[in-house]
Amino acid sequence: MTEKIGVVGAGIVGLAVARELAMARGAEVTVLDKEQQVAAHQTGHNSGVVHAGLYYPPGSLKARLCREGVALLKDYCARHALPYDEVGKLVVASTRAEWPLLRALAERARANGVPGVAELDALGLREVEPHAVGVAAVHSPHTAITDFAAVARRLALDVTELGGSVRLAHPVRAVRETASGVEVLAAGRRLAFDRLVVCAGLGTDAVAAMAGRRGDVRIVPFRGEYYALTGAARELVRGLIYPVPDPRYPFLGVHLTRHIDGEVLVGPNAVLALAYEGYGRRDVANARQILGWPGTLRMARRHWRTGLREVHGSLSKGAFLRAARRYVPELTAADLRRTGGGVRAQAVGRDGRLLDDFAVDVHGRVVLVRNAPSPAATSSLAIARHIAGLVPAFVR
Ligand SMILES: Cc1cc2nc3c(=O)[nH]c(=O)nc-3n(C[C@H](O)[C@H](O)[C@H](O)COP(=O)(O)OP(=O)(O)OC[C@H]3O[C@@H](n4cnc5c(N)ncnc54)[C@H](O)[C@@H]3O)c2cc1C
Repeated sequence: MTEKIGVVGAGIVGLAVARELAMARGAEVTVLDKEQQVAAHQTGHNSGVVHAGLYYPPGSLKARLCREGVALLKDYCARHALPYDEVGKLVVASTRAEWPLLRALAERARANGVPGVAELDALGLREVEPHAVGVAAVHSPHTAITDFAAVARRLALDVTELGGSVRLAHPVRAVRETASGVEVLAAGRRLAFDRLVVCAGLGTDAVAAMAGRRGDVRIVPFRGEYYALTGAARELVRGLIYPVPDPRYPFLGVHLTRHIDGEVLVGPNAVLALAYEGYGRRDVANARQILGWPGTLRMARRHWRTGLREVHGSLSKGAFLRAARRYVPELTAADLRRTGGGVRAQAVGRDGRLLDDFAVDVHGRVVLVRNAPSPAATSSLAIARHIAGLVPAFVR
């Protein structure tokens, strides 16, 4: 009899997992998402950067699955005529004080097997990005851009072509493990599966609680806001310009990114949100759960300086402009127009530590993706293989 696997979440991770399970195991997969379209949350609201693997500690899941994911994604985009453009990335040190961190980043990139990484001086970096300034930079020429929502839509098509189904407008309301499988209540219907894989992003904690698997980390949402460059200012950026990241923090700092549609975005910042889908600043729908988790306040205590800076940046266009002008000084206030944003699902431990690596838990018949922040979109096809290997073997 065919194995039946349910997947919660039609973001890029859930869809890639469903496709992999259908392809590699011949499973009959059903993807459930509460929204009316695929890629409605993180997958459809991000920087669109195919990260090359510069940042992640060698040996971590992020380091390995990012490199594997880039190769798989590049090939997938080529086969399905999806956008993929190696515009290249510069990580720019704007002061000498940042040199040691920049050098360490170049070493880490090499240790991770990132191809073509070069260390550039102030003149060299201007050959790559003529309007950028800095004292030195690391150049990653194969860092690319794509449209992750388009990739997700193609993955959904693959799932249906493989005999599976993607059921939208199906919010999962209850999960019950039985002796023979997992029962899920969605859109008023009871669905029976042999296994369930939860890739619910910002909704992870709620589904984990339904399955009786709260665990010892919680999702804390971080809003990322963007400005778009207007008119001719877009020509000031050829590819991707990033600051040297703060190693104490998993976010990469406000960057300038060219997008596949020709837009150049400045952002995202990283502001603690008080609603899981807190796209608006006044959204506080889940304040009780988020602030009630002891890790949130411990994290806030540990990172209060950065937190205050981010909140200030969120409220003030001037602060955002200053961050961008540090790398492209020709920009003026008139060149920036506020645009949309996204909300990151970041797992935080009880002790306030932000979980850096990808994390997946297996509990009986339920597999839970606990932490799939950036570069999970880049890594999605490799994460899918990794998870397929964790889904317990099928025995009826
Ligand atoms: C601002 C920002 C910038 C980023 N930039 C990059 C980048 O440049 N490169 C990169 O690789 N990564 C980037 N990321 C990270 C990347 O977008 C995510 O890691 C990735 O999209 C995670 O995919 P996912 O499928 O796990 O989550 P999601 O895309 O959020 O999908 C989860 C899905 O689960 C559904 N769901 C939740 N609860 C339920 C429920 N109860 N019932 C049914 N469905 C449910 C939701 O509706 C949603 O569709 C960025 C993220 C953000 C927010």
